[in-house]
Amino acid sequence: MSLRLSTFKAPPKGEHYDLLIVGAGPAGLSAALYAARLLLKAIVVSMDVGGQLNLTNEVDDYPGLLRISASELVARFRDHAEKLFGVPVYTNITVQNMIREGDEYHITGTRGLDVYSKAVIIAVGTARRKLEVPGEKEFTGKGVSYCSICDAPLYKGKDAAAVVGGGDSAMEGAIILSGYVKKVYLIHRRSEFRAKPFYVEEARSKPNIEFILNSVVKEIKGDKVVRSVVVESKDGAVREISVDGIFVEIGSEPPKKWFQSLGLETDDLGYIKTDEWMRTNLPGVFAAGDAISMWRGFRQIINAAASGAIAAYSAYTYLTERGLIRRPVVKAEGAVNGGKQG
Ligand code: NAP
Repeated sequence: MSLRLSTFKAPPKGEHYDLLIVGAGPAGLSAALYAARLLLKAIVVSMDVGGQLNLTNEVDDYPGLLRISASELVARFRDHAEKLFGVPVYTNITVQNMIREGDEYHITGTRGLDVYSKAVIIAVGTARRKLEVPGEKEFTGKGVSYCSICDAPLYKGKDAAAVVGGGDSAMEGAIILSGYVKKVYLIHRRSEFRAKPFYVEEARSKPNIEFILNSVVKEIKGDKVVRSVVVESKDGAVREISVDGIFVEIGSEPPKKWFQSLGLETDDLGYIKTDEWMRTNLPGVFAAGDAISMWRGFRQIINAAASGAIAAYSAYTYLTERGLIRRPVVKAEGAVNGGKQG
């Protein structure tokens, strides 16, 4: 029996909240648990739970947890916010609009989402970047994948796969795939890597991983499924390599157009601009996690969680300073009262 408070449905229509958190990755769920500790009436709405963590295998850089599978960490983040602190997490929902009405935002989205909140935290993360080459769209799901960790086992015993990218995701993907596929080609547009050195070393130590550097993918070819990839090197040489699958691991990007449609100020790449308290340019709207402009180039789970906690505290400060909620009052006899719930 599931102990989840809510799933696959929208929250009650017309409900009013102190804080609505969009996104249920490490940032959104950390914000949720801090909001609950600050006695805010909070809610999380999200497309999925876990965000980019779902694309990772193991996590060994979250303090105190030594080594943990990413899926277990996602479950713990959710349980902490939802089971321990009682913040409802509604999934499979996309927020589409957020219109200011008085002291609140009227928030609408898919699955009939139609609620009001005095403060909002945007913690939606980013989406996988596309190569934008011929064949990519056509063969997505038919040999083109954006998640090596999720899909590598499907290629067990196959002859060859290509991984594109030079960051941690590509390196981790190539290493995992090398355990399933006879030959892995790691295609990267430069000869230097963004990936952590130990990942590069491990990938280099695998006899069945071949590095194809200073090269870009020009086309993905196939019939019903992917059969080959066309690669061009910086010196202009073009080669076609037979592969059963291609894993595009070239990072991710924020939903810039959606942010801008909400009136959020973004940087040149579309990440939300915030100050150190995670405040955006919109009153009562805060941002956290991978979608913020801060810490570009060092997006870590710990940063996402920290920014979520800060955003929740900022939302609480915003609400109390404007008298939109009452601070808990210590009564003469010692009882604490006044934290607004419900
Ligand atoms: P990333 O660090 O942004 O790396 C993206 C890679 O793709 C770069 O090497 C980039 O090349 C290349 N690239 C970008 N656009 C391209 C294009 N259009 N065509 C060809 N190549 C392109 O992304 P990531 O590897 O997904 O990592 C994202 C974040 O997650 C990082 O902070 C990373 O540390 C973290 N992460 C951590 C772990 C872990 O620690 N277990 C695992 C996975 C991810 P250039 O270098 O030339 O720009």
